[in-house]
Amino acid sequence: MKEKINLFKESLRLVWKSAPEWAFVNVVISILRSFLPLALVFLIRILIDDITASVSAGHASFNNILWMVFAVVLVYFLDEASTDFGNFVRQKQSLKLEAYMYKLLHTKSIRLDLINFEHPDYFDCLTRASREAPWRPNSILNNLISMLRGLLSLLLMAGLLVTLHWAIALLLLVINIPGMWLRLHYADILYNFQRQQTPEARKSAYFNWLLTGDRPARELRLFGLGNYFISLFIRSFKKVKEEEINIIRKRTTIELISDVVKAVAFFGILLFIARQTITGKLSLGQMAMFLLAFRQGMIYIKDLFSSLAGLYEDSLFIGDTFEFLNLEEKVTASPPAIIPAALKKGISVQNLSFTYPGNSDPTINKVSFEIKKGEIIALVGPNGAGKSTLVRLLTRLYDPDSGSVKYDGDDIRNMDPEQYRKFFSVIFQDFMLYNLAVGENIRMGNIEEPHSEERIRSAASITGVHELINNLPNGYNTVIGNLFDDSRELSWGEWQKLALSRALYRHSPVLILDEPSSALDAETEYDIFRRFREIVKGRTSILISHRFINVTLADRIIVLDKGELIEAGTHDELMKKRGMYHSMFIKQSSRFGER
Ligand code: ATP
Repeated sequence: MKEKINLFKESLRLVWKSAPEWAFVNVVISILRSFLPLALVFLIRILIDDITASVSAGHASFNNILWMVFAVVLVYFLDEASTDFGNFVRQKQSLKLEAYMYKLLHTKSIRLDLINFEHPDYFDCLTRASREAPWRPNSILNNLISMLRGLLSLLLMAGLLVTLHWAIALLLLVINIPGMWLRLHYADILYNFQRQQTPEARKSAYFNWLLTGDRPARELRLFGLGNYFISLFIRSFKKVKEEEINIIRKRTTIELISDVVKAVAFFGILLFIARQTITGKLSLGQMAMFLLAFRQGMIYIKDLFSSLAGLYEDSLFIGDTFEFLNLEEKVTASPPAIIPAALKKGISVQNLSFTYPGNSDPTINKVSFEIKKGEIIALVGPNGAGKSTLVRLLTRLYDPDSGSVKYDGDDIRNMDPEQYRKFFSVIFQDFMLYNLAVGENIRMGNIEEPHSEERIRSAASITGVHELINNLPNGYNTVIGNLFDDSRELSWGEWQKLALSRALYRHSPVLILDEPSSALDAETEYDIFRRFREIVKGRTSILISHRFINVTLADRIIVLDKGELIEAGTHDELMKKRGMYHSMFIKQSSRFGER
């Protein structure tokens, strides 16, 4: 319970922070709205009594009645208008809150440790948080307000009904209790069900993406996979929805029974009021007032209980959002914090080991080596040897399980990862494609630097993509990709040239190129590697490549196999050694008759 109250407090704090002025207006309007219905039934009573008095007196004092009609209509109008205005205020506040919550979610998401993406639990947590975060805090506020309004209006109406008979006010309360219990009970069931179903719901979202996304579209058509994925989607979708509808069906059946109980109570009260009126204990105006008050009371109590149940439901679901927002970042600067500067001496890797969560064997196993400032190092090894993983450890996307990476002699765990990564420029194997202007795609390499057309062009010229860009309809301003209007799609190799330009655009002391030329044509690749030293401009560079002809230009070559460093040296040294490097080099070059 204490935990739930804290969640409420936290949610209300978010609502308030996102739009204090609108939250205030919302509360004020809601309180005002509680009084209007009571005023309305009271005025209706006076109006009816005035009319009956006029009829029985045999002459109509129309002036009085006119004023009463005017008063009734005015209160009715105020009630309607405040409802409409209240809705507008709620929408406005929701919008502000939604934007605020998205900002919190996105800020958290970009800061979280990359290792989280290795855990399916993380995706479940993210899915639940993104589903609930934008609207749950507002729902808490609205439920609280509507509970407050319901309670206030109900007390006022119940006070009125007590003047008729205390039992009627009590009955009003009692007949609504089963409905309330029912909602709380089913809120628990539905919450647990939805939580348990998150992995299945993610599965159906994945199949939906396979069927509608642009990336899978080609293979899907070529291999004729559409109907297969449709059947997988339907199976997964039905599994989630059919069970949910079963729960809702049971709830609705019990709700109907509780509605019958309420109808019986209403029947009894109607009879009682009718009798009282016939026997002259109540005037016609009073009769109308009590009937309306009872009906309104029923509505308020239903609202009250349903906002209470809503609050309970909110407290269950909002926990998911806070679970995500409170995930801890472990890749941070551990004390004593060191502020990194541009590389002066070099990087040393000492006894580094790392195992992916869920894997039993280490992907990097006790690896040690040094990289001197300005050196060009090549990392080679068979598929799955651990080359890309090593890059992630060097750039502190992951922290190792044991061992360390030292940057100019300091352990990188003492450095803020964002500050540290500023000294690295990386092109990943699975580099990103941004559906933005082509110049912007290059500038993303260093978004903090002021826009420099000249430097963008120069980075594009190095990889031979400048001419292509110049010939696009809007030159460097042409949007690339196929998502937006007036955009132009590029070939995979052209995208890779752009990604390479992006990496070169960043002025960083260390450059890491993971398979940078896998999609380049022979001429461009030859041209780039022929001028490689000139291109990297003395930067410390790590090149990962399966093309041994490119690897030979490195000052030193490190050979990894099954996560272990098995050889290191210059091309000539490794060839003389006749180990794994020699064998891989010979196999590759023999295909081109270069033996
Ligand atoms: P390639 O030459 O094919 O690019 P690589 O040497 O770069 O291979 P890595 O990508 O570092 O190899 O992968 C090394 C091993 O780590 C692989 O065998 C793979 O099983 C495992 N691995 C890689 N990425 C992940 C991941 N995200 N989660 C779990 N295991 C992973």
